[in-house]
Amino acid sequence: MTRVVVLGAGFGGLELSTVVAQRCGTDVELTLVDQAEGFVFGFSKLDRAPDVVTASGLAVDGWIPVDPGTCETAFPGVYAVGDVTSIGTPKAGVFAEGQAAVVAERIVATVQGGTSAARYDGRGICYLEFGHDRVAKVDVTFRPGERPVGGLEGPSTALAADKSAFGTDRIRRWFGHEWVPAA
Ligand SMILES: Cc1cc2nc3c(=O)[nH]c(=O)nc-3n(C[C@H](O)[C@H](O)[C@H](O)COP(=O)(O)OP(=O)(O)OC[C@H]3O[C@@H](n4cnc5c(N)ncnc54)[C@H](O)[C@@H]3O)c2cc1C
Repeated sequence: MTRVVVLGAGFGGLELSTVVAQRCGTDVELTLVDQAEGFVFGFSKLDRAPDVVTASGLAVDGWIPVDPGTCETAFPGVYAVGDVTSIGTPKAGVFAEGQAAVVAERIVATVQGGTSAARYDGRGICYLEFGHDRVAKVDVTFRPGERPVGGLEGPSTALAADKSAFGTDRIRRWFGHEWVPAA
Protein backbone atom coordinates (compact mmCIF):
# COMPACT_ATOMS: atom_id res chain seq x y z
CA MET A 1 0.00 0.00 0.00
CA THR A 2 1.44 3.38 -1.04
CA ARG A 3 0.88 6.25 1.39
CA VAL A 4 0.25 9.72 -0.05
CA VAL A 5 0.03 12.72 2.28
CA VAL A 6 -1.26 16.02 0.85
CA LEU A 7 -0.72 19.10 3.04
CA GLY A 8 -3.21 21.84 2.20
CA ALA A 9 -6.70 21.42 0.77
CA GLY A 10 -6.60 24.45 -1.49
CA PHE A 11 -6.77 24.46 -5.29
CA GLY A 12 -3.65 22.34 -5.61
CA GLY A 13 -4.37 19.90 -2.81
CA LEU A 14 -7.98 19.33 -3.85
CA GLU A 15 -7.10 18.62 -7.48
CA LEU A 16 -4.23 16.33 -6.51
CA SER A 17 -6.27 14.38 -3.95
CA THR A 18 -9.24 14.03 -6.28
CA VAL A 19 -7.25 12.61 -9.18
CA VAL A 20 -5.13 10.27 -7.04
CA ALA A 21 -8.18 9.00 -5.14
CA GLN A 22 -10.19 8.42 -8.32
CA ARG A 23 -7.39 6.76 -10.26
CA CYS A 24 -5.77 4.70 -7.48
CA GLY A 25 -8.76 3.78 -5.32
CA THR A 26 -7.75 1.39 -2.54
CA ASP A 27 -4.18 1.07 -3.86
CA VAL A 28 -3.26 4.22 -1.91
CA GLU A 29 -3.76 5.40 1.62
CA LEU A 30 -4.45 9.07 0.94
CA THR A 31 -4.44 11.64 3.74
CA LEU A 32 -5.47 15.23 3.03
CA VAL A 33 -4.55 17.62 5.86
CA ASP A 34 -5.72 21.20 6.32
CA GLN A 35 -5.83 23.57 9.26
CA ALA A 36 -9.08 25.14 8.03
CA GLU A 37 -12.62 23.83 8.52
CA GLY A 38 -13.61 24.52 4.92
CA PHE A 39 -12.57 25.88 1.55
CA VAL A 40 -13.61 29.32 0.36
CA PHE A 41 -13.43 29.19 -3.42
CA GLY A 42 -10.81 31.56 -4.83
CA PHE A 43 -10.24 33.67 -1.76
CA SER A 44 -7.11 32.36 -0.14
CA LYS A 45 -3.57 33.56 -0.42
CA LEU A 46 -0.36 32.44 1.21
CA ASP A 47 1.89 35.38 2.18
CA ARG A 48 4.73 32.98 2.80
CA ALA A 49 5.21 29.26 3.26
CA PRO A 50 3.53 28.02 6.47
CA ASP A 51 5.86 27.45 9.44
CA VAL A 52 5.50 23.70 9.13
CA VAL A 53 6.97 23.92 5.61
CA THR A 54 9.80 26.24 6.63
CA ALA A 55 10.68 23.99 9.57
CA SER A 56 10.78 20.97 7.26
CA GLY A 57 13.70 22.43 5.33
CA LEU A 58 11.75 22.46 2.05
CA ALA A 59 11.65 26.27 1.69
CA VAL A 60 14.43 28.53 0.47
CA ASP A 61 13.93 32.28 1.07
CA GLY A 62 10.32 31.65 2.08
CA TRP A 63 9.18 29.51 -0.84
CA ILE A 64 9.72 25.95 -2.03
CA PRO A 65 11.93 25.56 -5.11
CA VAL A 66 10.71 22.85 -7.48
CA ASP A 67 11.57 21.43 -10.87
CA PRO A 68 9.27 23.57 -13.08
CA GLY A 69 8.34 20.57 -15.22
CA THR A 70 7.68 17.94 -12.54
CA CYS A 71 7.12 20.06 -9.38
CA GLU A 72 9.45 17.72 -7.52
CA THR A 73 11.34 19.30 -4.61
CA ALA A 74 14.95 18.62 -3.67
CA PHE A 75 13.61 15.67 -1.65
CA PRO A 76 12.83 12.61 -3.83
CA GLY A 77 9.15 11.73 -3.82
CA VAL A 78 8.16 15.08 -2.28
CA TYR A 79 6.30 17.50 -4.56
CA ALA A 80 5.07 21.06 -4.06
CA VAL A 81 2.55 22.99 -6.15
CA GLY A 82 0.90 26.39 -6.20
CA ASP A 83 1.41 29.47 -4.07
CA VAL A 84 3.87 27.82 -1.72
CA THR A 85 6.45 27.34 -4.50
CA SER A 86 8.87 29.65 -6.31
CA ILE A 87 8.04 27.94 -9.62
CA GLY A 88 7.67 31.24 -11.49
CA THR A 89 4.00 31.24 -12.46
CA PRO A 90 1.60 33.78 -10.90
CA LYS A 91 0.13 32.83 -7.55
CA ALA A 92 -3.30 31.86 -8.80
CA GLY A 93 -5.50 28.82 -8.38
CA VAL A 94 -5.44 27.76 -12.01
CA PHE A 95 -1.69 27.40 -11.95
CA ALA A 96 -1.81 25.45 -8.67
CA GLU A 97 -4.43 23.17 -10.23
CA GLY A 98 -2.42 22.64 -13.42
CA GLN A 99 0.69 21.76 -11.45
CA ALA A 100 -1.32 19.41 -9.22
CA ALA A 101 -2.67 17.56 -12.26
CA VAL A 102 0.88 16.81 -13.38
CA VAL A 103 1.97 15.70 -9.91
CA ALA A 104 -1.13 13.50 -9.69
CA GLU A 105 -0.21 11.81 -13.00
CA ARG A 106 3.27 11.11 -11.70
CA ILE A 107 2.01 9.72 -8.38
CA VAL A 108 -0.58 7.52 -10.14
CA ALA A 109 2.15 6.13 -12.41
CA THR A 110 4.36 5.38 -9.40
CA VAL A 111 1.51 3.63 -7.57
CA GLN A 112 0.86 1.54 -10.69
CA GLY A 113 4.52 0.56 -10.86
CA GLY A 114 5.43 2.70 -13.87
CA THR A 115 6.69 6.15 -14.71
CA SER A 116 5.03 9.21 -16.19
CA ALA A 117 6.34 11.69 -18.74
CA ALA A 118 3.76 14.30 -17.65
CA ARG A 119 5.28 17.76 -17.35
CA TYR A 120 3.78 21.09 -16.35
CA ASP A 121 3.72 23.52 -19.28
CA GLY A 122 3.15 26.78 -17.36
CA ARG A 123 -0.31 27.38 -18.82
CA GLY A 124 -3.22 28.98 -17.01
CA ILE A 125 -6.41 30.88 -17.72
CA CYS A 126 -8.18 33.75 -16.01
CA TYR A 127 -11.70 35.10 -16.49
CA LEU A 128 -12.45 38.83 -16.42
CA GLU A 129 -15.95 40.09 -15.57
CA PHE A 130 -17.22 42.98 -17.75
CA GLY A 131 -20.76 43.11 -16.36
CA HIS A 132 -24.01 42.61 -18.29
CA ASP A 133 -23.27 38.84 -18.42
CA ARG A 134 -20.12 39.36 -20.47
CA VAL A 135 -16.83 37.72 -19.58
CA ALA A 136 -13.39 37.68 -21.20
CA LYS A 137 -10.72 35.00 -20.89
CA VAL A 138 -6.94 35.38 -20.69
CA ASP A 139 -5.04 32.25 -21.71
CA VAL A 140 -1.34 32.58 -20.90
CA THR A 141 1.71 30.35 -20.61
CA PHE A 142 4.72 31.08 -18.41
CA ARG A 143 7.90 29.19 -19.32
CA PRO A 144 11.07 29.56 -17.25
CA GLY A 145 13.39 32.24 -18.68
CA GLU A 146 10.91 33.32 -21.37
CA ARG A 147 8.38 36.12 -21.70
CA PRO A 148 4.83 34.96 -20.99
CA VAL A 149 2.82 34.28 -24.16
CA GLY A 150 -0.94 34.31 -24.45
CA GLY A 151 -4.00 36.16 -25.58
CA LEU A 152 -7.31 37.69 -24.63
CA GLU A 153 -10.61 36.26 -25.87
CA GLY A 154 -13.93 38.12 -25.63
CA PRO A 155 -15.72 39.53 -23.73
CA SER A 156 -18.84 37.57 -24.65
CA THR A 157 -21.87 35.89 -23.13
CA ALA A 158 -20.53 32.52 -24.32
CA LEU A 159 -17.52 33.00 -22.08
CA ALA A 160 -19.81 33.87 -19.17
CA ALA A 161 -21.27 30.38 -19.55
CA ASP A 162 -17.73 28.99 -19.86
CA LYS A 163 -16.75 30.64 -16.57
CA SER A 164 -19.82 29.32 -14.81
CA ALA A 165 -19.11 25.80 -16.06
CA PHE A 166 -15.50 26.12 -14.90
CA GLY A 167 -16.61 26.76 -11.32
CA THR A 168 -19.42 24.23 -11.35
CA ASP A 169 -17.08 21.52 -12.64
CA ARG A 170 -14.60 22.07 -9.80
CA ILE A 171 -17.28 21.97 -7.11
CA ARG A 172 -18.68 18.74 -8.58
CA ARG A 173 -15.30 17.01 -8.97
CA TRP A 174 -13.74 18.12 -5.68
CA PHE A 175 -16.75 18.00 -3.36
CA GLY A 176 -19.16 15.66 -5.13
CA HIS A 177 -22.16 17.99 -5.17
CA GLU A 178 -23.69 20.67 -7.33
CA TRP A 179 -22.91 24.35 -6.87
CA VAL A 180 -25.71 26.30 -5.24
CA PRO A 181 -25.34 30.09 -5.61
CA ALA A 182 -25.70 32.07 -2.38
CA ALA A 183 -29.20 33.54 -2.00
C1 LIG B 1 -9.26 37.89 -3.15
C2 LIG B 1 -8.60 36.82 -3.98
C3 LIG B 1 -9.12 36.50 -5.23
C4 LIG B 1 -8.53 35.50 -6.01
N1 LIG B 1 -9.07 35.21 -7.24
C5 LIG B 1 -8.51 34.25 -7.99
C6 LIG B 1 -9.06 33.90 -9.27
O1 LIG B 1 -10.06 34.49 -9.71
N2 LIG B 1 -8.46 32.92 -9.98
C7 LIG B 1 -7.37 32.27 -9.51
O2 LIG B 1 -6.88 31.37 -10.21
N3 LIG B 1 -6.82 32.56 -8.33
C8 LIG B 1 -7.36 33.54 -7.54
N4 LIG B 1 -6.80 33.86 -6.34
C9 LIG B 1 -5.59 33.18 -5.91
C10 LIG B 1 -5.89 31.79 -5.41
O3 LIG B 1 -6.87 31.80 -4.38
C11 LIG B 1 -4.60 31.14 -4.91
O4 LIG B 1 -3.55 31.37 -5.81
C12 LIG B 1 -4.83 29.64 -4.78
O5 LIG B 1 -5.73 29.43 -3.70
C13 LIG B 1 -3.53 28.91 -4.55
O6 LIG B 1 -3.82 27.55 -4.43
P1 LIG B 1 -2.89 26.64 -3.54
O7 LIG B 1 -3.45 25.28 -3.58
O8 LIG B 1 -1.48 26.84 -3.89
O9 LIG B 1 -3.00 27.26 -2.08
P2 LIG B 1 -4.35 27.57 -1.21
O10 LIG B 1 -5.57 27.49 -2.04
O11 LIG B 1 -4.05 28.84 -0.47
O12 LIG B 1 -4.35 26.35 -0.23
C14 LIG B 1 -3.44 26.24 0.83
C15 LIG B 1 -4.14 25.47 1.92
O13 LIG B 1 -3.17 25.16 2.92
C16 LIG B 1 -3.80 25.29 4.18
N5 LIG B 1 -2.75 25.51 5.17
C17 LIG B 1 -1.96 26.59 5.34
N6 LIG B 1 -1.13 26.41 6.35
C18 LIG B 1 -1.39 25.18 6.86
C19 LIG B 1 -0.86 24.41 7.94
N7 LIG B 1 0.12 24.88 8.72
N8 LIG B 1 -1.36 23.18 8.16
C20 LIG B 1 -2.37 22.71 7.40
N9 LIG B 1 -2.92 23.38 6.36
C21 LIG B 1 -2.43 24.60 6.11
C22 LIG B 1 -4.74 26.47 4.01
O14 LIG B 1 -5.79 26.42 4.97
C23 LIG B 1 -5.25 26.28 2.59
O15 LIG B 1 -6.46 25.53 2.54
C24 LIG B 1 -7.38 34.83 -5.53
C25 LIG B 1 -6.87 35.14 -4.27
C26 LIG B 1 -7.46 36.13 -3.49
C27 LIG B 1 -6.88 36.46 -2.14
